[in-house]
Amino acid sequence: MSELRELYQTVILDHNKNPRNSGTLEKPSHSADGNNPLCGDVIHVTLRVEDDVVKDLRFEGVGCAISTASASLMTQAVKERSVSEALELFDDFHKLVTTDAPANETELGKLVVFAGVREFPVRVKCATLAWHTLKNALKGSDDVARTE
Ligand code: ZN
Repeated sequence: MSELRELYQTVILDHNKNPRNSGTLEKPSHSADGNNPLCGDVIHVTLRVEDDVVKDLRFEGVGCAISTASASLMTQAVKERSVSEALELFDDFHKLVTTDAPANETELGKLVVFAGVREFPVRVKCATLAWHTLKNALKGSDDVARTE
């Protein structure tokens, strides 16, 4: 088992068991819903953005281990970042899980463990659901983020 693969399993298990920033914010400035019908993952993301910085965010949802762990890691990665940084991180993460192009690993940090899902297109949708939902929320879109 490769080191990244081992790390992947450890991180996914940890964040699935103890999701960080789970729940909903009382008075969110932004929110959005996401749905991945292929797997049955659903998510609701709430954010508090102040002075263009994501001061706080929470997620709640029902889904597989990958979608839950990805949402949990996303909340950690995006907190205290500016909106444009958060959207850049979305692009970096999306590139990481969908292409072989070198990703910005320094910015991605722990998120690099998801690199392995690119071999499993169905799992890519699980891993990116929270991110698509975040992007919709930040862009003020009322559309339900769909992976299909
Ligand atoms: Zn899933």
